[in-house]
Amino acid sequence: MAGQSWQCPYCGNYASIRLDDQQSGVNDLHSGTIYGDVGISFYSVKCPNKECKQVTLEVRFFQVTNDGPRKIRRALHVWQLMPESGAKPQPDYIPAPIREDYLEACLIQSKSPKASATLARRCLQGMIRDFWEIKKGRLVDEIDTLQDRVDADVWEAINAVRKVGNVGAHMEKDIDLIVPVDPGEAGLLISLIEQLFEEWYVRREERRNRMALITSLAKEKDELKKRPNDKGLLE
Ligand SMILES: [Zn+2]
Repeated sequence: MAGQSWQCPYCGNYASIRLDDQQSGVNDLHSGTIYGDVGISFYSVKCPNKECKQVTLEVRFFQVTNDGPRKIRRALHVWQLMPESGAKPQPDYIPAPIREDYLEACLIQSKSPKASATLARRCLQGMIRDFWEIKKGRLVDEIDTLQDRVDADVWEAINAVRKVGNVGAHMEKDIDLIVPVDPGEAGLLISLIEQLFEEWYVRREERRNRMALITSLAKEKDELKKRPNDKGLLE
């Protein structure tokens, strides 16, 4: 059987996982519970990358119903146990406090979306201050300053993160105002952060590396030119 394409959540590498790298199991638990007949299943993958060899593990609690001879399993709970969140590996050149806020926002996305949105907001503020060197005290002013420097659609999205993330950050001012944030919305904010990691930090790093390569190649050429050629003459 041909392996299926899979991206490791730890090392970020794409791999073709073989049957040997995957394990799964399913078991009936009880019948006649308040959920009806229930069971449990797990699915685990070992990363085939020799540098990584990490393990992912997901467990499902499901309800079983019969549709004629066919068993239908409907998941009531899904636990992503390893890794604990959907956070993607991020490079070291993104400052550690920013990466930590991102990781934590991912970790609590489904359990506490409001707190996750607040962390996403803080992560965004950290990025604007570090990457764009804009420091105004209030995020709203920092985002205003950013408006002329980034594309309009990116700016709109950033402003949306600020508004949703405000729910947790300014509790003391709007104590009676509870704006619900669901895990899906928290996830949108997280994906914006991921996109900005890519568009700001990763692109800048790639550009720097390219420029450094061009500069060193040009220097090499220049050195060669300065050397006398085989006729003993300077060009
Ligand atoms: Zn891996």
